[in-house]
Amino acid sequence: MEHFAERNIIAAIARQQARTAADLVRGIGDDCAVVRKAGGLVDLWTTDALVEGVHFDLAWHPPELLGRKAASVNISDIGAMGGRPRFALLALGLPAACPKEFLDKMVAGFLDVLAEHDMVLVGGDTVYAGERLLLSITVCGEMAEKQVCYRSAARPGDLVWVSGCLGNAACGLELCRQGWQGQEEYALLCRAHLDPQPQVRLGRMLAESGLIHAMMDISDGLATDLAHICQGSGVGAEIMAEEVPLAGELQKAAAALQLSTMQLALQGGEDYQLVFTSPAQNSGPLRNLSQEAGVDIACVGRIVAGAQVMLRQDGEWRDISFQGYEHRF
Ligand code: ADP
Ligand code: MG
Repeated sequence: MEHFAERNIIAAIARQQARTAADLVRGIGDDCAVVRKAGGLVDLWTTDALVEGVHFDLAWHPPELLGRKAASVNISDIGAMGGRPRFALLALGLPAACPKEFLDKMVAGFLDVLAEHDMVLVGGDTVYAGERLLLSITVCGEMAEKQVCYRSAARPGDLVWVSGCLGNAACGLELCRQGWQGQEEYALLCRAHLDPQPQVRLGRMLAESGLIHAMMDISDGLATDLAHICQGSGVGAEIMAEEVPLAGELQKAAAALQLSTMQLALQGGEDYQLVFTSPAQNSGPLRNLSQEAGVDIACVGRIVAGAQVMLRQDGEWRDISFQGYEHRF
């Protein structure tokens, strides 16, 4: 049997889908679909599913945090375009024996995150799903059409920035797998996997500032997500390993687990930080904006002519395009 990667399947579906609509600004291919409405505004649409055994393991993922994560990873895609999340739909595929207490806690966690973002749950679906728990969330957001930050807007000469630290979530997953979850020194890393914080406020501030070109969220690792920006923009990128922001906790844990910090940071995924590009002259104002937002940002490289994401580490260049997480079938 032939095996397909997620990217190829999406590309095939996009080719099959030949229709358009007058008010559709952007369809398949970015963090959200963008639909024009009145008053210079657009609606943003995004959906993401979490499947038991693939995206989470109930052995270490408590129900409240699972509900929180399902909301957060969807909201992250709205923040990735610079938008304001408004409404959510919650589709649940439940296994036969799903205790009511578990469900109540999961929904409470989901609704807590919605409340933190001033959002409303407006519908969903509830079905029997055999063996595995499935959560499929759709979120709608809105923003000014002129401020939407697309993957396709990077230009050669732009600097590449990321928010926060990278690799924490991938390392946290490995720590949970190995039963280190209770260790206080690893709490930040486990939290990054169990309860990611979408950078919605920073995303909105960046979009409103007009200082940046392309933006997306880092769900599959910078190696893959920056490759999406490069592909969408018809450019290449150069990343400097020594500039990639790493938490002290990550460096300690990676050493204990004998894992490569660079591999965790660039290929691990699920950090839900933002990657964005900006002309070099905007660096000063960007640093001020980061201070105002209370979120660290780091310049990790630059956009160049070409098509690859190249990493410079220990004086050597290596192509890391699409080396992050990808579902395979
Ligand atoms: P993200 O990681 O930001 O959620 P994905 O990599 O999941 O984005 O998807 C990339 C693009 O492909 C998005 O525009 C998404 O809406 C679209 N997409 C993914 N799967 C499908 C599908 N089965 N049918 C139509 N569009 C899809
Ligand atoms: Mg995304």
